[in-house]
Amino acid sequence: MIAISKTEKQTTLSGIKPSGPLHIGNYLGALRQFVAMQNVYHCYFFVADLHSLTEPYEPKEKTAQILDLTASFLAAGLDPKKSTIFLQSFIPEHTELAWIFSTITPVPELERMTQYKDMAKRKGFTVNTGLLTYPVFMAVDILIYKSTIIPVGDDQDQHLEITRTIARNFNRRFGETFPEPKPLHTAVPRLMSLDNPLRKMSKSEPAGCIFLNDQPAVIEQKIKRAVTDTAPPKAGEMSPGVANLFQLLQEFSSEETVKKFRRAYEDGSIRYSELKPVLAKDIIKGLKPFQKKYATLIEQPKKLMSVLESGSSKARKVAQNTLQEVKHKIGLPT
Ligand code: AMP
Repeated sequence: MIAISKTEKQTTLSGIKPSGPLHIGNYLGALRQFVAMQNVYHCYFFVADLHSLTEPYEPKEKTAQILDLTASFLAAGLDPKKSTIFLQSFIPEHTELAWIFSTITPVPELERMTQYKDMAKRKGFTVNTGLLTYPVFMAVDILIYKSTIIPVGDDQDQHLEITRTIARNFNRRFGETFPEPKPLHTAVPRLMSLDNPLRKMSKSEPAGCIFLNDQPAVIEQKIKRAVTDTAPPKAGEMSPGVANLFQLLQEFSSEETVKKFRRAYEDGSIRYSELKPVLAKDIIKGLKPFQKKYATLIEQPKKLMSVLESGSSKARKVAQNTLQEVKHKIGLPT
């Protein structure tokens, strides 16, 4: 869990793409932090539907994915009274400011992004312009609300750096307007895939994921099949599969259970056929409150949409003010 210092109230923002059901990696690595942050910061959390269009998708499914993510936000504990929860596409000012920011962002800055370069290298995949300009859009998401502190994983560091560069370039050319947001490096567990523990748990490889809404029998099955010791681990190191199971124990089981299995691991008496059912039971128990709330929420699409509408209308006022200020500063009539 992150230790958040109670300093002056800063503004933070984060979003998740609505592109399928969330897994426990998303919960431990993102949602759980969002819930903790809303008691400390002035928070914006958004459903990044425009970003999700850069990936292959089925138009008929998009609205359901948006509602699914909104229900997951709320079921995990995001509270519209504490946080502004909005839908990116409900705020056209994002796209307008993105155009303006793109005119002050050199193409080579975007082309050197590791994530973009990795995607551009993929065989049989034509990288779209949205993936190239994604960091410009991300800068808008952050700066349009004048956010000051952004939770980032290591893979987002480069993108936040572009946001800071865009803020600096804009301020230098048109006058002080945007704060340069600082990264908040959270001690987030990086959950690995259950069937390939050398790779991150990711919905693109569903067999290795436990989804937040997986039923007990499915969770038991997935944990039972989880990879443990494939190759002999390096001296003094747990093999990645075992380390991942211990990470899950740490998150979902009692301290006593963790200690018991750690002792067994250390004295060589551990049996994964004993650890796995205990872990599965604790995960099932840990996910129950989420699943119960989600099941109720997902039956209320109108309520979910109205949460997005009212959050978006609050966010939009702020976005409109920033865009007015920007247009005025760059010399466009307002
Ligand atoms: P994605 O859907 O992959 O864009 O992820 C949404 C959020 O969940 C991001 O903040 C990710 O950093 C986080 N996340 C995704 N996969 C994992 C994982 N396996 N372990 C920890 N955090 C993750």
